[in-house]
Amino acid sequence: MHWLIGTHSNSGLGRIWREIGGIKDGDIVKLDSFFKVFYNNETLTFYNDFDKLECELNRVCVCDKDKEEVARFMDVLRYLGMFEIPSDIPPELIIEQPKPDFAFARKTISFMTRTLGDYAQRFETPIIRYALEHAPVNKRFCVLYFAETLSNLCSGNADLPRGGSSVAIRNVTERFKALGGKLITGAPVSEIIIEDGIAKGIKLESGQTVYGDYTVAACDIHHTYEKLLGNKYAPNAFFDDNSDKEKYSTYSYIIAAFKTNMDLHSRDVAEIYHTEKFDLSGKECDVLSVRHYAYDESLTNDGYTVLQVFVDTDAADYQRISGMSRSEYAEFKRRTGETLKCQLEKYYGVNGDVELIDVITPRTYERYLNSYQGSFMTFPLGAKMAQPLYARRVDGIDKLYLANQWLMAPGGTPIAVMSGKFAAQLIAADAEGVI
Ligand SMILES: Cc1cc2nc3c(=O)[nH]c(=O)nc-3n(C[C@H](O)[C@H](O)[C@H](O)COP(=O)(O)OP(=O)(O)OC[C@H]3O[C@@H](n4cnc5c(N)ncnc54)[C@H](O)[C@@H]3O)c2cc1C
Repeated sequence: MHWLIGTHSNSGLGRIWREIGGIKDGDIVKLDSFFKVFYNNETLTFYNDFDKLECELNRVCVCDKDKEEVARFMDVLRYLGMFEIPSDIPPELIIEQPKPDFAFARKTISFMTRTLGDYAQRFETPIIRYALEHAPVNKRFCVLYFAETLSNLCSGNADLPRGGSSVAIRNVTERFKALGGKLITGAPVSEIIIEDGIAKGIKLESGQTVYGDYTVAACDIHHTYEKLLGNKYAPNAFFDDNSDKEKYSTYSYIIAAFKTNMDLHSRDVAEIYHTEKFDLSGKECDVLSVRHYAYDESLTNDGYTVLQVFVDTDAADYQRISGMSRSEYAEFKRRTGETLKCQLEKYYGVNGDVELIDVITPRTYERYLNSYQGSFMTFPLGAKMAQPLYARRVDGIDKLYLANQWLMAPGGTPIAVMSGKFAAQLIAADAEGVI
């Protein structure tokens, strides 16, 4: 987990995270910076603090025009503050729909209609351009998404649970069980059982069936429609939009994870190095994007922690990797790990043991999660892209609800957790005969 939006106790998401146990007050880690860039002997730090960030951006500006753009950028950032998507009740249960917020649209329109990659070109300062093109938010996203993330970080609403994702998962699981929930893992579902237009339960790959009053499909929406519902139900608007492959194309990561006993305490949590061009198993790269986990004592064991190198991938990379035979894939992972280790030694200044643990690819996410084209979030929320708000129900099936990040781009844990809450509220409304 890199940042979790909704850690502030006054935010809507903050209330949900606390209710389900994902965040516990007193167990939140705050990071000083979002990322730091190293470019041609210069550095630029994206601090998680509005004033420090503004000073730092102005420090590197090479011209007044860029300083003016920095002022505009910071103005929107401060305006966004702890901006969040409304998460109290699902839109289906809102009787009087809120009026469109024209002030918000006016203020942010130029950030909605431009990708981060395009926005980078507005700057003449080389290090700002490079930073925006290689930020930990994919450059195909609209600037607004990057600004919202940074703004939440600066407002203290995007921190991390101590212990990372595994502790958050454990806490949520314990809360669920304490409320009477029963959790069965390692039991893949092969089908949702539908009888006379009503979801009756699920069939497991083992052949076992599980019946229930309601069924919630809490996994990738493509997997739900194509496999669990056997392509028998009319695709909704989601799939029509999806057919524009350029606009709705996927992205993901390759991650090489290393075990290390390096002293990382003086390092920024995420560092991005401009490198000489190098070949990464057939892909030309000029960036080394590194993240360490030494910021949290509980993620250090016997003096060792994890260092990761991230490589952005696109739909073409997914096709290439997924087409590899087992042996080709093993060789690809081995070479990728070795190359990234060499780059780490060259640019990150390795001063201790660094041992490759494993290389994770889009194929890993597909195998573990059944995620569409190995995506770890949804489509990038690009420029001029209408926000796809998808139905939480499937036309022609009662008692079935969908809950997962694909219901709203760009996904991520906030959308996933909201979708779970909304599904529960809709089931309650359904049971009471309200819908
Ligand atoms: C390296 C990495 C870092 C990330 N960092 C962040 C971050 O910092 N902040 C953030 O907000 N998000 C982050 N994300 C994204 C985040 O993990 C996802 O957005 C989120 O997990 C999506 O939740 P979900 O419930 O929709 O889907 P998932 O988490 O994929 O959950 C779906 C579950 O359904 C299971 N499943 C699928 N098919 C079946 C089946 N047939 N039968 C039974 N079970 C099935 C899957 O195994 C999975 O457990 C990160 C992702 C990755 C990979």
